[in-house]
Amino acid sequence: MEKFDITIIGAGAIGLAIAAELAGKNRSILLLERNKKFGQETSSRNSEVIHAGIYYPENSLKAELCVKGRELLYELCKKHEIAHKKCGKLIIAVTEEEIPSLENLKIKAERNGVTDLQFLEPGDIKKIEPFINTPCAIYSPSTGVIDSHGLMLYFLAIAEKNDVLISYNTPLTGLYKEQDGWICEVLEPEGETFQIFSRIVINAAGLGSAEVAKIAGLNYRVYFCKGEYFAVGNGKRRFIKGLVYPSPHHDMISLGIHTVTDLAGGFKLGPNALYVDHIDYSVDWEHLDIFYESTKAFLPFIKKEDLSPDMAGIRPKLQGPGDGVKDFIIKAEKGDYEGLINLIGIDSPGLTSCIAIARRVKSLLEGFE
Ligand SMILES: Cc1cc2nc3c(=O)[nH]c(=O)nc-3n(C[C@H](O)[C@H](O)[C@H](O)COP(=O)(O)OP(=O)(O)OC[C@H]3O[C@@H](n4cnc5c(N)ncnc54)[C@H](O)[C@@H]3O)c2cc1C
Repeated sequence: MEKFDITIIGAGAIGLAIAAELAGKNRSILLLERNKKFGQETSSRNSEVIHAGIYYPENSLKAELCVKGRELLYELCKKHEIAHKKCGKLIIAVTEEEIPSLENLKIKAERNGVTDLQFLEPGDIKKIEPFINTPCAIYSPSTGVIDSHGLMLYFLAIAEKNDVLISYNTPLTGLYKEQDGWICEVLEPEGETFQIFSRIVINAAGLGSAEVAKIAGLNYRVYFCKGEYFAVGNGKRRFIKGLVYPSPHHDMISLGIHTVTDLAGGFKLGPNALYVDHIDYSVDWEHLDIFYESTKAFLPFIKKEDLSPDMAGIRPKLQGPGDGVKDFIIKAEKGDYEGLINLIGIDSPGLTSCIAIARRVKSLLEGFE
């Protein structure tokens, strides 16, 4: 049976960032992916925003890894010419009643180490976004956008250059604990299974992460929370420069339907947040009215006929319907599960945090090596 020091499950932004971080230290590393290419799931179906770290509970992993990860990401992008733009973003009050929630958000951000938020006067808001309606806004200069595919390609190149073996079309189907590691059972495209031995297994399987933990014998619950996007056409891109977010709802299931302006010049609204039972990336035309109604007060230049269904992504959330905000789980399991590192509930800001998450995993491994 073939043996590896480390097996990583999932070639999304997180699994690839971990592979790049751990590669090249005389370790044999296998990266298993169930799809025929990397980055086919959540990592290519999101807003591609580099978040500043504003919204997350104080002392949470989300706050810590977002703030660290954002700086590491900007550094990496600059050094290796990965397409990105530190474009800043506005978080706006749609009505006067929402102004106190912006004040609270600024305090929360400061507790997380995000100290560069500025309240803007109406005249300054108009200088940034002349066509939006808002009585008050805060500006986050350290928010940006990134080409997530370019980022994953970079991690992939580093991993491959350092001899990480990447196996596509090969879902993990079984995990059995041995004394010094794990037997991983993998399904081949032809329908046969094969086994490999790995001293350490890192579960970065995103939407499949609870399932992977379950086949090892551990119980985690991940909810699927879909986010749809509607494209804005009819030349309306000229009315918006960048990212405009409403003030977030207190349940924090999502950050609210906002503008998404990508590096290729696209303009979308999204994402909404709908709990679903299975993975289905279709966008429901019937949700067009909700998108229009929830943005018309601050984006008055958008008409219903400018909107058309675009794409959808699915967040792997620990927070179920009616629950409070839940943090990322990044955990080296102990006892009977020693040698298994689980990353569960890596929803937003997972993309922003990917390098910081990879470094955290590396520090968890120090105990094993
Ligand atoms: C609508 C939406 C908007 C978002 N916006 C942002 C944003 O603006 N900024 C931000 O920072 N974050 C954002 N996020 C979050 C971000 O996209 C995720 O945190 C990040 O992409 C998670 O990466 P991942 O590698 O964990 O997951 P994935 O990209 O889903 O990768 C997991 C991989 O594991 C593979 N896999 C699963 N099970 C198995 C198995 N049994 N065997 C082998 N392979 C398996 C899958 O095929 C997949 O390729 C958003 C998410 C959504 C859904």
